[in-house]
Amino acid sequence: MAGEPDDDPRRRIPRTDAVLAHPRLAEAERVLGRAVVKSVVVTAQQRARAGEIAPDEVPGAALAALPTLASSSCAVLNATGVLVHTNLGRAPLSRAALDAVMTSGGNTDVEFDLTTGTRARRGRGALAALADAVPSAGDVHVVNNNAAALLLCALALAGDGGEIVVSRGELVEIGDGFRIPDLLASTGARLREVGTTNRTHLADYAEAIGPATAFVLKVHPSNFLVTGFTSEVAVPELAGLGVPIVADIGSGLLAPHPALPDEPDADTALREGARLVTASGDKLLGGPQAGLLLGDADLVQRLRRHPAARALRVDKLTLAALEATLRGPAPPVRAALDADLPPLLDRAARLADRLAAEGVDAVPVESAAAVGGGGAPGVRLPSAAVSLPEDYAAALRAGDPAVVGRIERGRCLLDLRTVAEDSDEQLLEAVRRCTS
Ligand SMILES: *Cc1c(COP(=O)(O)O)cnc(C)c1O
Repeated sequence: MAGEPDDDPRRRIPRTDAVLAHPRLAEAERVLGRAVVKSVVVTAQQRARAGEIAPDEVPGAALAALPTLASSSCAVLNATGVLVHTNLGRAPLSRAALDAVMTSGGNTDVEFDLTTGTRARRGRGALAALADAVPSAGDVHVVNNNAAALLLCALALAGDGGEIVVSRGELVEIGDGFRIPDLLASTGARLREVGTTNRTHLADYAEAIGPATAFVLKVHPSNFLVTGFTSEVAVPELAGLGVPIVADIGSGLLAPHPALPDEPDADTALREGARLVTASGDKLLGGPQAGLLLGDADLVQRLRRHPAARALRVDKLTLAALEATLRGPAPPVRAALDADLPPLLDRAARLADRLAAEGVDAVPVESAAAVGGGGAPGVRLPSAAVSLPEDYAAALRAGDPAVVGRIERGRCLLDLRTVAEDSDEQLLEAVRRCTS
């Protein structure tokens, strides 16, 4: 027979099943699926048969040929000191919220009463948690984000050509070129701008209000400060005007926070007479992207019944994460906001010492963290950082997980207020990988 001699290395090519059992290929199969992994194994076996690679190189060749997951998301350690960093996905979810997302990924009772076996109100757990967190709200509703909450207010309350009265000092661009006034006008509502950039008075509102007025909108300038010769009209005064006040508080603080005395919160705004409050779920509340609507039961009902509400509704993952954020332990953003300075200084000293002992030019420094675009403009939160040579910044960003710090005066600062303490070892490892 023209068979291969017994010592033909091709006889030693491992079988497909044996290669697929390789731990890293088995792990890849979990993520990429069997068909993809099998095809790279078969290709590697063919290369071995053609003599291009040795038989024992088949698993390695298969691994090398795996497509990298074309994922647009790469895990990032936020060491910027910016608590709510829009470019880094805003609020990281709490452990409890992540677990809830995992569970709700399957079939759940999101719209079903397991006791009676009949349909139930969608997301009632999350809505009840939100209502419990803000007892001054007559009713609550949740949509995709705060922009959607504002859109729904405009559609349902002023979409028939009604007027929305708003101060020129509060015509905010929220980022990526999106502007709240344009968003409102897109619904068919008419915007009635009052006052000037720096000063708006109660009389400006009073003059503008008439039969066409649907509501007065009070927008929190959450990403900029106007200082100097300024004046604005607060919710309690506006509430006396006799038309509904809708307050876009932005950040999603549900109750006052001592470190952020100028940041509006939902409970206070409602107690002061706002009929509706809108806010984001993924800023200072520390939850998933969502738009929170709280207030007068009749108005919330009108929003909920508007046809567009169906297009703005949140999915079950968001509802689960929101409920866990509201009922569970403090989420990372809240922990970062509440962290005391001395432990941050200790951590910075310890991390810098360990790195310095390994020859890295690392020093602990005091720094200033910030809430970020998510609210409280101008507030500096005392913090501590590990200061490294500037060229660490790019190397750290290229790592896995990527670490994003902040450049200040020619140094790369890793600010610890936005890094959970249980990530310190990961941070250390990331710096070591850049050093070696
Ligand atoms: C962030 C913000 C918005 C937009 O909220 P999203 O949840 O990103 O849609 C609107 N208004 C104010 C005042 C904000 O701070």
